[in-house]
Order: sequence, then structure tokens, then C-alpha cells
Amino acid sequence: MSGRDLLIAGARVLTFGPEPRDLDSADILIEEGRITRIERGIEAPPGTPRLDAAGHLAIPGLINAHFHSPGNLQKGALPGYPLEVFMLREVPPLASAVPQGRLAYARTMIGAMEMLKTGVTSVMDDAFHVPAATVEGIDAIAQAYADIGMRARIAIDQPNIAEYDKHPYLKDMLPPAIVAEMDAAPRQSDGELLELYAHLIERWDGAGQGRIGAALSCSAIQRVTPSYLQALAELSQKRDLPFNIHILETRTQAAFGEAVLGRSLVKEAKARGVLTPRTVVVHAIWVDDDDIAILSDAGVTVAHNPVCNLRLGSGVAPFRAWREAGIDVCLGTDEAIADDSVNLWGAMKMAGLIHTLADADWSRWPSAQEILGVMYEGGARALGAVGGIGWLSPGARGDVALIDLDTEAFTPLNDVQRQLVFGETGSSVRHVVVDGAIVVRDGRLTRIDEKAMRAEVRALAAAASADSAAAEAAAMRLEPHYAEMVRRAFVRPNRMRRRLDP
Ligand SMILES: [Zn+2]
Repeated sequence: MSGRDLLIAGARVLTFGPEPRDLDSADILIEEGRITRIERGIEAPPGTPRLDAAGHLAIPGLINAHFHSPGNLQKGALPGYPLEVFMLREVPPLASAVPQGRLAYARTMIGAMEMLKTGVTSVMDDAFHVPAATVEGIDAIAQAYADIGMRARIAIDQPNIAEYDKHPYLKDMLPPAIVAEMDAAPRQSDGELLELYAHLIERWDGAGQGRIGAALSCSAIQRVTPSYLQALAELSQKRDLPFNIHILETRTQAAFGEAVLGRSLVKEAKARGVLTPRTVVVHAIWVDDDDIAILSDAGVTVAHNPVCNLRLGSGVAPFRAWREAGIDVCLGTDEAIADDSVNLWGAMKMAGLIHTLADADWSRWPSAQEILGVMYEGGARALGAVGGIGWLSPGARGDVALIDLDTEAFTPLNDVQRQLVFGETGSSVRHVVVDGAIVVRDGRLTRIDEKAMRAEVRALAAAASADSAAAEAAAMRLEPHYAEMVRRAFVRPNRMRRRLDP
């Protein structure tokens, strides 16, 4: 026995995938981490561990396709801000102290705990590092996912140009003293960052028996040097790695395209050759019909984060227009500082609800099946794992969430998929299996001492509170200029309707 063999016995099984099946009662046999059979009355090889799942629903482990673990400690920390003002607290541009590895480890862990206990078995962690990425920080993040037993793709989301050049209007509005401070803030060279990627790939891609993988990120094309963007695009092609790029999340970014580049950021991304089927375009809210056609032609996957988009007032994404253009869509929570939880069920429910506002024709509203399909199929695609995750089928990884049907959310049981999307919060998830290993049993994590970890997170967060206070003071100093920039972007005419402003 490898520790990755398991018989899940007697569950109702929703398989999802290209030929979805709903089986009243079936067994799932997992051998060496992969599903080998799904049928009634399986005689497992002697010694195979057995998980009695009568009264439970087995579904594929959920996939959180867009997430930033470094925001995990700031849940509930901020009032409502638009993205550009929010980022002064999320990624303080003048910060100088590099956090120690244990903080990064515990910080990653608290988000992974919440995901795993609510049935999320796979995540794309687009991890940023303030002020600078380090081997220690990267290793701490990857080690946390390896230890807890989750499946994760990890990127290094590290801008490397001067802060004032990432935004429209800002440089001309800032006092010279602040421009000088921004010039002096730490910035990593293309070479340094590519060396860190070499480490990430060498040390972690394929680690944890294949559960841990590398991904790439430029954060956004307007936040990095053109040469670094190019190098990442080449690396993505050479190593066949997903490439995360935030594009047109806000109206201020739309203004950046028009005022600075003379074309939309999607057109700019196309011209720079970074839109491919490996690209995960994050947000894509302020995209027009031309942009949508470009994204569709390029075969990218768009990561939709509806809770984050509302938390930051970014707007409502053109979900139906994306889908009608044939774009693959995946779902994410984005980060705990812009959602206040790491709960993909909330993102699914929001995705199922918010797009009713865009269309009076209710036949075009997202159905529960569509939302689940997007989350599983789009998520598998975003993580470069089509066929491996997001469905239950022989050959797929043994990643299974077992949901207790004897709970209020499923009583009475009218329509299981609708109740999953609109009624469940993650609280009915009882057992979670990743690669054939039980990582949550009876609602408890099996590989870590969760009580001790929560205590450690509290202690580390308290110890870092002086840094947080200093970061807030720095943010307050910059905020009036950023607020003015956002106001300027908002008064600039824009034909797209992504908010309810009169
Ligand atoms: Zn993001």
C-alpha cells in the first residue's frame, strides 16, 4: 500500500466531466493516487483502506483557479476601497522589510486549511512577495501545500518596474519627494526573478508526488519590464507552464490602456505575444467586443472572481459575452483581503447570481450546472491538468470531496446541483481525499495540528502588527494621490457598462 490507495464505499457519485453521471450508490477505487474504478460492489485488493461514505455525495475536489495566499492574514482588515487604493495596503509600494519564512508558511497554511476543509483540493496560488521574492519565501509557500496534502500550482507574482509607471496619470500628480522614494524602493531585476523561477521549477515542479507544480505570473503586463514579460512568455512555452496575467480589472486600468498605450491592455497583450492557451487572464472586466474576440481567438482561460470584483467595486464581468464567444472560464476567490474568506462556495454562488443583472432574458442566466462546469473544467484547464482533475473517472487523480447529505443545506434534497451552488457553504464537507490520501476526516485535517497552527498564525500576526501600522501610515500618505488618479479615470468617458453608476 502506498498511502495513496483507498476505497470510497457507497456514496452517491456525481462524476462531472464530458459525460457526467449521477450514480445513486457506487464505490470509488483509488490506486497509487489515481481513480481506477467507479462502480457498485468493488472488491478492493486486500489491505486497501476503506472510507465508508453511505449518506454522502462524492464530487471531484473543487478547484480555486485564482488566489494569492500572501493576503491570507488581512481578512477583514480593510474597509471598502477600489483596487488601486486597496493595493497600497495589499502590496505596499514603499515597504522594505522582508517577512521571515515561518510567517509565509503559516500564512499559506491558514488559507490552505480553509480551502481543504471546504472541499477545495486544487489551487493556483499567484503568490506575491513584498517587497522582494526570496527562495525562503517561495519554499515556505510550497512546503505548506506539500505538508497539508493539497494540490497547488505556485507562481511568483512580482512586478519589477517603478510604482508610478504601473498606473495612468500618477507620475505627474506625485510630489517629487514621493517619486524619489518610489525610485529608491526595492525592485528585482529580470535576472534575479528568472533565477527564482529556475529554483521554483527545479525544486518544486512535480514535488509531493506531483501534487505541487510551478506556474508563471507577471502580475500584469503594465507592472513589469517588457524584457521580463518576454522571458516569462518564452519560459511558459518552453516548459508548458500556465501563465497568469491580470488584465483590465478596473476602469483605471482601462484608462491606462487608452491614455498611456493608445490601445486596450488586451490589444497590448496580444501585440506582445503573451496570449496563448496557457495564459490565464485574470478578471477581464473592462473588455469590449474586440477584446473578447481577441481572448477567444487566443484560446486563453479567463479567471472570474466575482466576490473580489464586488468587494473592490471593480464591476460586473461580461460573463455571458465571454461564454458566447467560446472563452473558457474558471473561478477563483482571489484573495482573503479582497473576499475576507477563502471560500469557493461563496464565489460559485455569487457567479450564479450576479449575472442575472446583466440580462432581462432569464434563459441566459447562469445555471448551477454551468457554474459547476466552469469551476471544474475551466479550473482544470487553468491549472494545465485537463483530464487529471475536475472529474471523477478512471485515470483521473483521486481528488474527492465527500459531502454529508444529512445536513440542513440538503434537506430536503430537491436538486443536488442547485443546492451545491446556491445552498451549500462548505460546512457539509465531511471528508476530503487528495491523490487517494484522506486529508480531511470528519471535518478535521489529518496532517497538521490545526489548533496549534491557528494559535501560531495569531501570534505571528500580532508580532507583525507594528509593520502593519507602519504600512498603513505609508498608505495614508500616498492615498490622496491614488484617490485622485481613480477619480480621473472614472470621469474619463467609457462606453462599457460594468457598474450601476447612473
Ligand atoms: Zn488576483
